[in-house]
Order: sequence, then C-alpha cells, then structure tokens
Amino acid sequence: MGAHEEEAGGEEYLFKIVLIGDSAVGKSNLLSRFARNEFDNNSKATIGVEFQTQCVEIDGKEVKAQIWDTAGQERFRAVTSAYYRGAVGALIVYDITRRSSFDSIKRWLDELTTHCETTLTRMLVGNKCDLENIRDVSVEEGKSLAEEEGLFFLETSAVESTNVQTAFEIVIREIYNNVS
Ligand code: GDP
Ligand code: MG
Repeated sequence: MGAHEEEAGGEEYLFKIVLIGDSAVGKSNLLSRFARNEFDNNSKATIGVEFQTQCVEIDGKEVKAQIWDTAGQERFRAVTSAYYRGAVGALIVYDITRRSSFDSIKRWLDELTTHCETTLTRMLVGNKCDLENIRDVSVEEGKSLAEEEGLFFLETSAVESTNVQTAFEIVIREIYNNVS
C-alpha cells in the first residue's frame, strides 16, 4: 500500500461508551483495568475524570473508545443526560455477589432508553466473578436476562483481569461493524 492509500484509509473513529450500574459494582475498576491495566482496591468515587480514551486497532484501523465513568452520581440516581449524550455503546454492570445490583439492571436499561435516541450496543457485565464463594447471581440468570433484553453478556473480574479486555473489545468491534 502506498502512502497515498494509507492517507486515504486514515479515517478516524471515535465511539463514546458509557459505564452504568449501581454504586460499588466495580465500574471504575473495570475502566482502570481496561485503560491502564490497574486495579485500585481503595478506589473512592471517581472525582473529576469524566472519561478515558483507549485506542484499539480493528481491521488495521485505529478506533478510539471514549469511555465514560460516573463520578458516583449513580448513588443518588442522578446520572445526567449529558452523561448519555452521544453514546453509541454501554456496559451495564452488576456485582455477582449482590443481587440488588442485578435487580437494578432493568432500571438502568430504562435509563438508556430514555436518554439515548440511537440504538446502542449494549453489554451486560456480571463483575467480581473472582468471588465465586459468595456468588449471589448465577451465570444462567445473567445469560437469560441478556437474551431477553438482546444484550451481549460476560462475567468479568477487574481484580483478576478476567474478560475485561474482551468485554470492551466486543462492544467496540460491534459498534465499528455497525458504522463501517
Ligand atoms: P463503582 O462504584 O461501580 O465504580 O465500583 P468501584 O470500581 O469503585 O469498586 C467498588 C469496590 O468493589 C471496590 O472496593 C473494589 O475494590 C471492588 N471491586 C471492583 N471490581 C472488583 C472485582 O472484579 N472483584 C472484586 N473482588 N472486587 C472488586
Ligand atoms: Mg466509580
């Protein structure tokens, strides 16, 4: 491929993806694991940082994912419409050791429908799968909710890095396939 073609093929892709789900399910740690390969045990409510940008290469194209994390507003059910504006993907996260966070998923899906006009690529994420001994939501329950609602589904562990990369990449790739 000549320089000219390389230039011609140099389109840019920037996808906004939002993280939602109850407080303390591990959203911020999933993002820091994905974007910086870090886990922070004492992560307090994210302050100041609205999003992190991560580049992924798909079919030789550079795709930028701008991933938004809440600043803890979900605790007060006060995630604003600005948070959702322009989003094309969402990871809806629950904690497999806390059933109430799984029961909230429907409400988070309603939030997405209310705030986003476009069809989003959505992934249901059951986080903290390293805590098998205190599991409160079965894999089957996660799977069947995802099927019912038409979501991708994975269980993850931000602590052990299980499926974190994969979860984000499936969403990014699917968005890319839908627009390219
Ligand atoms: P957020 O409120 O949804 O952003 O959740 P955080 O990322 O702040 O995490 C909440 C708590 O769960 C913190 O104490 C984390 O250390 C812990 N945590 C996050 N992800 C995992 C995980 O995959 N496994 C385990 N065991 N703990 C996790
Ligand atoms: Mg957080």
